Parts: sequence; structure tokens; C-alpha cells
Amino acid sequence: MALRVGVIGGGQLARMMVPPAVHLGLEISVLAETEGSSARLAATQVGDYHDVETVLAFARGVDAITFDHEHVPQTVLRALVDAGVEVHPSPEALFVAQDKLVMRERLSALGLPVPDWARLETAADLDAFLADHGGRVVVKTARGGYDGKGVRVVSSSHEVADWFDGLSDPATGGALLAEELVDFRRELAQSVARRPSGEIVAWPVVESIQRDGVCAEVLAPAPRSTGRIADIAEDIARRVATELGVTGVLAVELFETNDDRILINELAMRPHNTGHWSIDGSTTSQFEQHLRAVLDLPLGDTGTHADWSVMVNVLGGPSDGTMANRLPALMADQPGAKVHDYGKEPRPGRKVGHVTTLGDDLDDVVYRARAAAEFFAG
Ligand code: ADP
Repeated sequence: MALRVGVIGGGQLARMMVPPAVHLGLEISVLAETEGSSARLAATQVGDYHDVETVLAFARGVDAITFDHEHVPQTVLRALVDAGVEVHPSPEALFVAQDKLVMRERLSALGLPVPDWARLETAADLDAFLADHGGRVVVKTARGGYDGKGVRVVSSSHEVADWFDGLSDPATGGALLAEELVDFRRELAQSVARRPSGEIVAWPVVESIQRDGVCAEVLAPAPRSTGRIADIAEDIARRVATELGVTGVLAVELFETNDDRILINELAMRPHNTGHWSIDGSTTSQFEQHLRAVLDLPLGDTGTHADWSVMVNVLGGPSDGTMANRLPALMADQPGAKVHDYGKEPRPGRKVGHVTTLGDDLDDVVYRARAAAEFFAG
């Protein structure tokens, strides 16, 4: 009988798990938040992932439950485990990804390299951190942030007065995170996949270019990633995956500092925007690998098809309709471009798709990917 996987969350990450599930003959079902979700190509049920009964009913009969996002409450995750459901990543691992303060505490306790940080409960805590860190620091909400929402660079506690006011709400975790403003040369990301039985594989470290706190482009592998940088990045991600017992894909966002250190910014315990290039650029995409890992199947080869793979997000979408309207013209112009349309309504800033190009001349590969993404976003 086919193996069955259930995905909680109906966004583009769930959508991109569908093709490899089809290829491998797996049955995939999705618990989506709304009708018409990006993942509607799979057998989809609409329901609230905060509701234990809904999630337990969805999980009935699947071989493993996994996620499109990290927001499922711990009470729901624990209820699944108590009911004997295989949940990957586990509630314990996800707990670390759900709260940036918990993440910083765990990574620091493991001796892994992170920016200087502090837990802030009051404006006085922030004033003290500012005084120790050159008067300009980064403040983050511990929970619920994404795409740069929940991240502010500040020189005074007034600039986050609203966040301090909101801390009485238990959903915030009751504290903010302060970090040194890292002087970085560029941002990198290292993805690995780990099976419950312990096997781990890694893709090459990549460079991610962010605009306004959102991932805009990814270059795979990261240019000029010397042996040392690649080794450090892979080592960090393998350690995080092992020490936190992560199952499935783990993406570690990293800073390469101007004084040549590698620091961990963030962890994502699921396929990640910085790994989308692997659909077209690697023998095993992050989505196929995630399914293999959460079902505890042997992991796939992470070799690459070309010297360079470049992925550019389509943000917002065309002003005159959907990506589909412009697809024929792009296909005629760029037969080698790999287009991924998430089937979402265009909205300013929204990730509605991406384009990946491959080749052996990095400038040319970047040029083609940018041109294609701009064609869809204009
Ligand atoms: P999100 O969870 O919203 O993705 P991140 O914590 O990843 O937020 O931060 C978003 C972006 O903000 C990062 O990609 C980076 O460009 C910038 N950033 C985050 N933390 C720092 C820091 N300590 N120093 C400098 N820039 C930072």
C-alpha cells in the first residue's frame, strides 16, 4: 500500500511537495487554512490547525504528519504524538523553531555561533543592551514573525514601545529578543535533511539576497564559498539537526561577517525559500528529500545539475493578471527558464512564484533569472 503523508498548512511549500509525492507514488493530503489554497492540487481538507479534533481527524490513517509552516500549537502537536501519530519534525524540535528566544538560548547552550543577544522584558533592558552595543541594535518579536515582519533596527526603546506594550499578551511569550546589529558581508543558507534513524545529507551552501527583509534571490552554490566557509556552514547545520533531533529538511540562515565569521541567524524546520533552486538544480529537491526524510526512507543524492543554479522570487505578480497570462511569452523568450507558479492571487509583495535558471556562467545565469522574474512581476 502506498505510504501516506499529511501536510498541515496549504501554502506554496505544501504545493511543491505534490510533484515528488506523485513521482514516488506517495499519497499526499493537505490540511489547508482556506478554500483555494496554493496546495489545492493535493487531496485537500479545509480546517483550523489550532483545533485538536480537526487535526487528529486529518491525521487518521497517515504514516507521517509534517508541516508547511511552524505555527501549529504545542498542545496540538503533543495530542498527535499521544495518539501515536508520527510527527516530523517532532514537537520538541519545533518548539525551538517557534520562538526566537528559545532558539537563541538553545543554540548558545550548544556553543554554536550566534550574534550577541539578550532577553528583553522592559525598556530598561533594551537601554542597557543599546549602551553595550554601539547604540544601534536589532529587536525582534520572539514569536509569529516572518519575512522581516517582527524585526526592527532601533537606536531607542521608543521605537519598539508598541511591542513592549503588547507583551502582556501571553501569545507573545512575554519578552522580546535584542541582537547586535551584525556587520555582515552577505547572507548564506545551509540546508540539510535528517531522517528519524539519523542519516543526514547536505546540499551546497547558498547565498541569499534579501530585500526589505524578504528573500529575493538565491545563488547556488554561494559564489566564492571557499572550502572553509562551506565546511563551517555544513558543520553547523549538521550539528543543529543532530543536537535538536530535527527530522525532515532543516534550513539554517547564516551571516558571513566582514571579519570572516559565520553566525546563525535563523532556523527553519521545513523546506525553505533558499532551497527552491534544488527542484531544478539538484538530483534530489528539498521537497522530495523532505518527504523521504519524514517517512524515514533512504535519502537522495544532493548532487547538482549545473555549476550554477539561480532562483529569483516573483514578488507581487503581474499588474495585469496572473503569471499564467504572461507564461507563453516568457516560454518563447527563455526556453531554458524553469517557471514555478504558486497559483496565488497577485498582491503587492506576495511571493506568487519563482524562476530558476541553470548554467556555467554565473553572470549569464543571474541575468536570465532576473529578467524572467521581472517579466512576471512588472
Ligand atoms: P524573519 O523571521 O522575519 O525572516 P529574520 O530574523 O530572519 O526575520 O530577519 C530578517 C532579516 O533581517 C535578515 O535576513 C537580515 O537581513 C536582517 N537581520 C536579522 N537579524 C539581524 C542582525 N542581528 N543584524 C543585522 N541584520 C539582521
